[in-house]
Amino acid sequence: MKYLDEYRDAPAAEKLLRRIKAVVTCASGRRARPWVVMEVCGSQTHTFLRYGIDQMLPEEITLVHGPGCPVCVTPVQAIDQAIALAGRPEVTIVSYGDMLRVPGSEKDLLSAKAEGGDVRMVYSPLDAVKLARQNPERKVVFFAIGFETTAPANAMAVSLARREGLDNFFVLTSQLLVPPAVEMIAASPDNRVQGFLAPGHVCTVAGYCEYEPIARQHRVPIVVTGFEPLDLLQGVLMLVAQLEEGRHEVENQYTRSVRREGNRQAQAIMREVFEVADQKWRGIGLIPRSGLRLREAYARFDAARVFGLQNLVSGEAGVCISGLVLQGVKKPPECPAFGTDCTPERPLGAPMVSAEGACAAYYAYRKA
Ligand code: SF4
Repeated sequence: MKYLDEYRDAPAAEKLLRRIKAVVTCASGRRARPWVVMEVCGSQTHTFLRYGIDQMLPEEITLVHGPGCPVCVTPVQAIDQAIALAGRPEVTIVSYGDMLRVPGSEKDLLSAKAEGGDVRMVYSPLDAVKLARQNPERKVVFFAIGFETTAPANAMAVSLARREGLDNFFVLTSQLLVPPAVEMIAASPDNRVQGFLAPGHVCTVAGYCEYEPIARQHRVPIVVTGFEPLDLLQGVLMLVAQLEEGRHEVENQYTRSVRREGNRQAQAIMREVFEVADQKWRGIGLIPRSGLRLREAYARFDAARVFGLQNLVSGEAGVCISGLVLQGVKKPPECPAFGTDCTPERPLGAPMVSAEGACAAYYAYRKA
């Protein structure tokens, strides 16, 4: 297949659905088991809901949604740090669009902009470097968030700024790593997830070697999966086949993009600039070795350190249950605020803001 439409082909989807139903109901020669499957990535959640795939799957398969929405899991402290920076007259804070509306302890970056802060939106960290180059009198801080997918470009921006000797470019980082979060969910005493659809984009960069010990140790099958409807149906088929056969291996559905070892060049620039560190995930808490921080050689680019924001204390609004949603324990409609106090126009939590947020997906496709 070469074109996007081919991954949305209805007859091919029906064929895969029939195969899933056959595998689920026939493999054990008796009534199917209830399998709980987590799609880790928020883009996968949106495809499931947008195309109604979750409703077409056999009722014996329950989908729950995972923590793979970078905006949703950026810690509230990082957002408060960005807001504090926006309040400084000499600083221009630069961010992706989604981040502007994510609530911090008291407000969001858009409110800080309305109050006079110099807050700007970009599509790439290299745009932020350009802004610093063009405005030497400003201190330009790029809010560098995301998973393994954004880390190489963020690292490249820092490396470029160092090569150019830019002394007015900084990064406020919240870089997270997915495999430790998957392991945390699999190891939790409350875990009900029996198989994971791993995020194809993250694995395109990082590969999937790190999932192999998780699958072995926790006896959970993991299928690296893409984002189009046929990708997801094939991923579910591969996962359920493993569950029915009692296997727990890492398999790759997304072969057109992912290799086991990942993208070595992207990993090299990440390793040059960042090192692995413990990391807080919003709504979830601290997960050991689940983040990236700037190496000491790049400390002068670290906005939190340079501007003295490392010890900023933040608090969460009590009503949002995003932590439970992001770990697959609850679904968005189970939140008392869903669609009433919390809407995309007036979000109380990040999953209602982000284009990858599970609450936004349910609101867009299931609210009516
Ligand atoms: S509906 Fe809103 S308040 Fe509830 S979990 Fe989602 S983002 Fe949080």
